[in-house]
Amino acid sequence: MADHDVPRRPAPGELTFTAPRRSKPPRHLADLTAAERREAVAALGLPAFRADQVSRHYFARLDADASSWSDIPAAQRDDLAKVLTPPLMTAVRELTADRGTTRKTLWRLHDGALVESVLMRYPDRVTMCVSSQAGCGMNCPFCATGQAGLTRNMSTAEIVEQVVAGARQLAAGDVPGGPGRVSNVVFMGMGEPLANYKAVVGALHRLTDKAPGGLGMSARGITVSTVGLVPRIKDLAAEGLPVTLAVSLHAPDDELRDTLVPVNTRWKISEVLDAAWQYAAATKRRVSIEYALIKDVNDQAWRADLLAKRLRGKLVHVNLIPLNPTPGSKWTASRREDEREFVRRLEAGGVAVTVRDTRGREIDGACGQLAAAE
Ligand code: SAH
Repeated sequence: MADHDVPRRPAPGELTFTAPRRSKPPRHLADLTAAERREAVAALGLPAFRADQVSRHYFARLDADASSWSDIPAAQRDDLAKVLTPPLMTAVRELTADRGTTRKTLWRLHDGALVESVLMRYPDRVTMCVSSQAGCGMNCPFCATGQAGLTRNMSTAEIVEQVVAGARQLAAGDVPGGPGRVSNVVFMGMGEPLANYKAVVGALHRLTDKAPGGLGMSARGITVSTVGLVPRIKDLAAEGLPVTLAVSLHAPDDELRDTLVPVNTRWKISEVLDAAWQYAAATKRRVSIEYALIKDVNDQAWRADLLAKRLRGKLVHVNLIPLNPTPGSKWTASRREDEREFVRRLEAGGVAVTVRDTRGREIDGACGQLAAAE
């Protein structure tokens, strides 16, 4: 992470104007249930139904500019905006690729923490990849975010706002392909979503709550990706939100996974996969197994066979990701022929597999690389 993101001790007598680190993000209507929003408005001495109007502006009209809320008396707009739609983040950079259909935004949160989101438009869908934490504490050695450690958890509203920002760009026609909507959200940006469980579940509710109380998305279009925090996977299965679970496996054997996904020393592959099968049974959703192919590290034929053996017969799908090398890393993506052989062996073993397309590679598509460079 960049210098300005490291807390610096002020010299004696020096005045500091930077916000304290890890300070709490402002409360926003997207943090609240519809009932809580009404309470917040009533506490201002304003009619509770104003909360529903502001929710409609935010979630249905994607409009947080109070001056345009023409159904609300002008004298009340600023007070309502102050308690319900305080600014949460500012875009500091936007990079585009694929003729503008891939757009990565670097956001600065109210306390200076940096996070990234990516919009990817395909012919049949638009996927927003969002961050759930500033930084990450999971320390996976191949991941750019992992190198910098955890700065702080994001709030529900900070997570939701990334999706709303993408929805705004699409609605405004700023993304080639005409006006559109966000159909999918993947929690594959910075952070370990299940390590920020409460805020992430709150965000899942706001994304799927019916408009205008929320964005009204289908849970089927949402994927939560995790290193495999077993107790939290079980909790998520009990939430009754049928989102897709993705497990970042990256190795079929504990010896290697201990090094690639260090949390594996706490919950072993067999425990993680058991929790995943429980999740599949509870939600009837096919679990996705993420596997970044790293040359000569985890891409051997015998590991493909072992992976197939562990997954065979389950409600599962393997997503192979060619490693996106992080700056200074000794690792690189697998050879084409090894990737092909890996796919062939999984298929021969009866496991559904796809190789992820590598959108936005030239704009540091891999999580955390843009923030790391800033
Ligand atoms: N903490 C969550 C979300 C992280 S990012 C998780 O680990 O699942 C989403 C996916 O990108 C994860 O599978 C992660 O392992 C993978 N990933 C991280 N860095 C990568 C890189 N340099 N190349 C390819 N995939 C990477």
